[in-house]
Amino acid sequence: MEEKVRIGISSCLLGNNVRWNSGHKLDRYLTDTLGQFVEYVPVCPEVEAGFGVPRESFRLVGDPENPRLITFKSKTDHTDQMLGWARKRVRELEKENLCGFIFKSDSPSSGMIRVKVYTEKGMPEKKGVGMFAREYMDHFPLIPVEDDGRLHNPQIRENFIERIFTLKRWRDDVAKKPGMGKLVEFHTRNKLLILSHSQKHYRLMGKLVAEGKKIPIKELCGQYERHLMEALELKTTAKKNNNVLQHLMGYFKKQLTADEKQELLEIFDQYRRNLVPLVVPITLINHYVRKYDQPYLKMQTYLNPHPVELKLRAFL
Ligand code: SF4
Repeated sequence: MEEKVRIGISSCLLGNNVRWNSGHKLDRYLTDTLGQFVEYVPVCPEVEAGFGVPRESFRLVGDPENPRLITFKSKTDHTDQMLGWARKRVRELEKENLCGFIFKSDSPSSGMIRVKVYTEKGMPEKKGVGMFAREYMDHFPLIPVEDDGRLHNPQIRENFIERIFTLKRWRDDVAKKPGMGKLVEFHTRNKLLILSHSQKHYRLMGKLVAEGKKIPIKELCGQYERHLMEALELKTTAKKNNNVLQHLMGYFKKQLTADEKQELLEIFDQYRRNLVPLVVPITLINHYVRKYDQPYLKMQTYLNPHPVELKLRAFL
């Protein structure tokens, strides 16, 4: 990759003292681990929209689909100020080449899901979306988003990281300067990664690329990108990964001894029964890819989708 993956992030997660009470919500995984491989673009909606630090805290109030942003004690309505700023800010963020955004959970400004919205009588319902997060997600519907809370779940974390690295590769390799040859090469390299998420998208995208010459290249790439991001958002499962592993084994039919095949099948079975994590069969397959110099598999992103230092694929 030419440069680090650029990720938007709620500023308080980086340890910046921007919260209403002058505190922060430092997340060490995001700063110390993921932070080695990404470049963060911090955004604090409440500070950037002009509310200062410290400030009165906010709540969402009213219709969960269209709530108002109200201060907790003085009950002042700041919806218009926040929305005006957020609409301008998302347009500015177009220039930042973001491949993802990590939001602070539960915030009336930054929360992306299940944020408390209060009825006029003061009863909370976890049905809202923070004001800035909503504007951001409406403006960039294909860019992966997550929040700090959900990222503690290993499967959600892995899925998000896979998507941001894939989107970066897509932009670097194809979208910057679209061409049919580049699209075919990208698709070839990412086939098994796509298959590990969705057989339906794997077939559909294969057909799209095969018949691609009928469609103007920019439109074709737009369609491909949409399918790609939709596919990768779908969860991988042990069943889906097992299917890909069997597929991978097929490439070594002639080279592997009966004993080596047996060992691989035993490890696939252990993975299927949740006794070993996905990284175990993948490591063995990578060993054979290197040993038997399999050129098609060498290029497969499925075998190496993100930096090993992130220690992913340990729980699937
Ligand atoms: S949650 Fe959002 S608005 Fe609140 S301090 Fe963090 S970045 Fe700022």
